Amino acid sequence: MSMTVITRFPPSPTGRMHIGNARTALYNWLYARHTGGKMLFRIEDTDRDRYQPEFVDVIIDGIRWLGLDYDGDIVSQYERRARHAEVAHELLRTGKAYYCYCSPEELDAMREKAKAEGRPTFYDRRWRERDPSEAPKDRKPVIRIKAPIEGSSTVHDRVQGDVTVNNEQLDDFILLRSDGVPTYMLAVVVDDHDMGVNHVIRGDDHLNNTFRQNLIYHGMGWDLPVYAHLPLILGPDGAKLSKRHGAASVEDYAELGYLPEAMCNYLLRLGWSHGNDEIISRDQAVAWFDLDHVVRSPARFDYARLDNLNAHYMKLADNWRLLDLAKPFYQKLGLAIDATVEHRILSAMDELKTRSKTLAALAEDSAFFAKTIPYNFDTKSLETLTHPDTKTILSTLLERFKPLNPFVSDAIQKICKDVADELAGGKLGKIGMPLRAALTGTAASPSIFHAAEILGNKETLSRLQFALSVLH
Ligand code: GLU
Repeated sequence: MSMTVITRFPPSPTGRMHIGNARTALYNWLYARHTGGKMLFRIEDTDRDRYQPEFVDVIIDGIRWLGLDYDGDIVSQYERRARHAEVAHELLRTGKAYYCYCSPEELDAMREKAKAEGRPTFYDRRWRERDPSEAPKDRKPVIRIKAPIEGSSTVHDRVQGDVTVNNEQLDDFILLRSDGVPTYMLAVVVDDHDMGVNHVIRGDDHLNNTFRQNLIYHGMGWDLPVYAHLPLILGPDGAKLSKRHGAASVEDYAELGYLPEAMCNYLLRLGWSHGNDEIISRDQAVAWFDLDHVVRSPARFDYARLDNLNAHYMKLADNWRLLDLAKPFYQKLGLAIDATVEHRILSAMDELKTRSKTLAALAEDSAFFAKTIPYNFDTKSLETLTHPDTKTILSTLLERFKPLNPFVSDAIQKICKDVADELAGGKLGKIGMPLRAALTGTAASPSIFHAAEILGNKETLSRLQFALSVLH
């Protein structure tokens, strides 16, 4: 009988959700879905000094935005602290751990001495064999694990292969602090075991912890999980991706106007491959994802690649959905989107979504649909408007557009073509540019003939009149 795969996503709620964490969540989710298993969700809120409840919501929102879900209820690590302590005492009873009564001053002195003598500054195990009856009466002890003193330890990792360390590098680390608070190292192992987690897929910044965590598994006689440690994500300059590089969290990318499906596809490919496939749908990802094709070397964040993927998914996206997703971006531009404007944007959406790389760009590109007279003209459009020929061109267009019915793109373009022949030596651009400047207040927009059709005869004429009034 094959076992059900159980993965987990255990973020520490200490800030926005880093892109590396998002990728970890995605891989755990995909592996669970691929194998018909489960992904559990645990909040690692043991460290009460750093814990900020509002970041739990931020992470949950991030998970939802990515379109991921989880099985069962969210587990709070902090609420399981009594169980963690119980395991520490169990290890004590079975001789796998011991009380250490060192005071902080003693530990400092010990470290200073070791440093001065050029030795490792690990705890020197002075209480490992000492009888607790020698303990100072008024001091509360910590519980430390008995790490092996000789030999070596190996972690079998599905991504990194076998990784071995000399046991000299493992210390008798603390399981339970003197105030009864469990350490992170203990809490993770106890939770993973109790929750039935059998696949631990996480960033390779945790690989060093794995050797220590395995000591707890061994001490309790528990089966080890399958490990897969994912290489770091680096910025374009080769340093660990951080805020310094700009956008580094899921929220950052949502705020920049990226689509979740593009982000997921990008994160999937950032550290995992399926032949030369770049564009991988959610369903394909679930069908294909495995641990064998996780890339072993660190991945470099590539903004151009993300942009290309986003452009691809923008084109595929449903028009109504894009309108909905773009609304906060219009809002950021200070634009109100009423039913009329909505209708205009939707009419232009087929063209807008093939031009715009992000939702933010889409909103900017179509902002003119939401403008009301009087509006501003940007520098470039003003240059066009103040050209000596513009007044005549715009007045002529105004006259010819007035009777035009139906007011449709082809007919509008035909009028512009005729006016170009009469006034601009046949150059359509010489007519299109001032028309665009007048109607949009900018020098770039989707097809101006189609834009005029969408604005409608009445609005187009009003905007032309307004532009002419500005030129007086
Ligand atoms: N809470 C840890 C983190 O956010 C994850 C620990 C783990 O995956 O074991 O980095």
